[in-house]
Amino acid sequence: MGDTGNEDILEMIQGKETLEFFKPTKDKVWVSETFFSVQGEGKHVGVPAVFLRTQGCNLLCRWPCDTIPIWREGELQTYEELYTSWCRNGWDIALKRDAHLILTGGEPLTRQDELTNFLQYLSKMGLRPFIEVETNATILPNRKFERFITHYTCSPKLSNSGMPRARRYRENALQFFSANSKAVFKFVIDKREDTEEVLRDFILKFDLSRTKVYLMPESTSNTELKEKSEWLIEVCKQHGFNFSTRLHLSIWDQLTGV
Ligand code: SF4
Repeated sequence: MGDTGNEDILEMIQGKETLEFFKPTKDKVWVSETFFSVQGEGKHVGVPAVFLRTQGCNLLCRWPCDTIPIWREGELQTYEELYTSWCRNGWDIALKRDAHLILTGGEPLTRQDELTNFLQYLSKMGLRPFIEVETNATILPNRKFERFITHYTCSPKLSNSGMPRARRYRENALQFFSANSKAVFKFVIDKREDTEEVLRDFILKFDLSRTKVYLMPESTSNTELKEKSEWLIEVCKQHGFNFSTRLHLSIWDQLTGV
């Protein structure tokens, strides 16, 4: 990723003790979990999807990141091991029947080189699915990776995440995704005032179309999700944004990998 403009953020990552995660690999992917479910958030809610959660993130958000305990752990899997396990479960057939492949994390763009190689491997095995990337939109995709991707769900972090602005708000990456027809934006809203930040720092700053924007309630339980959804739907109606639920939370509460 040396020529992509991500050097300074990669340097910041490399200063962290968690940097075990980011050691480069060959012919292998650092996998935290992989499972078959339906997309639970954003534009494609309800679509059958094989999830591949890579290990590690370049941020550490304060508000409950429901996946931290998962993306902190992981194991190196060869492309063949991963693909064979999918075939054993019949997920290759699901992908051929238009289930999406969702690359998530953590932050999958920290692993874009190894993911590009894995996607090339899948292509050789005859698998060329609809590929979604769930990203915090701080890291630019490189050209090789970008060619494989059908859709980006960008979820830039607001000040409510507790992350310093310099870490979470990366203008070069945000500019890239704002202008990319494959990208939509999903913001996690805790309080009504968070919407002002979305309007000021994203809609006005990057001339972002509201039709590409989804607001989703910050919530850790089904009850909280319901309470916040009621007022957030009104906010979406008022400003012309889309509303996104959190399907997995509403059905399975805090269980992941389902
Ligand atoms: S960017 Fe996403 S995965 Fe990373 S810590 Fe924040 S919420 Fe969790």
